[in-house]
Amino acid sequence: MPNGNVIRGARVGSAPMRPDERHQPAPRQDVTYWCRNDHRVDIRIAADVEPPPLWDCPRCGLPAGRDAQNPPGRVRAEPYKSHLAYVKERRTAEEGEALLAEALAALRRRRGE
Ligand SMILES: [Zn+2]
Repeated sequence: MPNGNVIRGARVGSAPMRPDERHQPAPRQDVTYWCRNDHRVDIRIAADVEPPPLWDCPRCGLPAGRDAQNPPGRVRAEPYKSHLAYVKERRTAEEGEALLAEALAALRRRRGE
């Protein structure tokens, strides 16, 4: 019997995480990063968290650092790739088809078809 656990964690009707009953916004800090292409990246994170030293620039994908005068160099030679591109790198189209067929079979079993 094939493993039917291809699709995880997507229970129909599962409730979203409930915010605190008495909702108080957690303290935040604004952090600015600069990439080598002079893109400014502003992020907002929890105040009690140490900002990560690097942040991927959302515009060009290069790593951005806290020091505007000295942005980090390219740490990886690859250009920016989408999540899908990484998935395609890890799995062939055939593997994708097999996973899809497996997931559909599991779905049909659950529906009693
Ligand atoms: Zn950039």
